[in-house]
Amino acid sequence: MGFSKLKIPRICEHCSKPFEAKTVTTRFCNISCANKAGKERKKSEKEQKEKETLLKKYSNKIAEVQTREFISVAEAKVMYGISKDTLHRLIKRGIITSFNLSKRLTRVRRSDLDAMFTEVKVPHQREKVREGKEFEVESCYTLSEVSQKYNANPSTVSSVIRKNNIPKKKIGSFVYVPKKQIDEIFDNK
Ligand SMILES: [Zn+2]
Repeated sequence: MGFSKLKIPRICEHCSKPFEAKTVTTRFCNISCANKAGKERKKSEKEQKEKETLLKKYSNKIAEVQTREFISVAEAKVMYGISKDTLHRLIKRGIITSFNLSKRLTRVRRSDLDAMFTEVKVPHQREKVREGKEFEVESCYTLSEVSQKYNANPSTVSSVIRKNNIPKKKIGSFVYVPKKQIDEIFDNK
């Protein structure tokens, strides 16, 4: 029977040694390699499972964090991939609101971070462009510029803006208002 003499050259999947396989489905050179390979597969399956459990735990954590308005610096680091130094810089510049529970426990406002990062990610381009034009720095005053130009004290400026529903936008530590609308109102006073 020519059939039984068939030998298939193979490389053992465990020890990488060449051997002659008796059937097309043989993957290991001997029983010991087959056993070791089986054990390793079980081990890696277990590791994979542990990884998945961790991931699940982690995603639950993120879901929980997303319901809170204030999050820790460490959480912000994980969620937004932002470094601690960058975060502290943004806090210092007034772009992100924060408060300290204690000297070492800073909490930051999640919606500030959302606003910063969604601006890049979310494709609401049409609205953004329109809003962007309105608030281009050249076509805006800061509140103190309004005070100076119209010789009005800051509280008057604020109340006029409020009463007239003038849109304003905070960028960093400055609040911007559209020149056109401000001029229309103050020129008539
Ligand atoms: Zn082997």
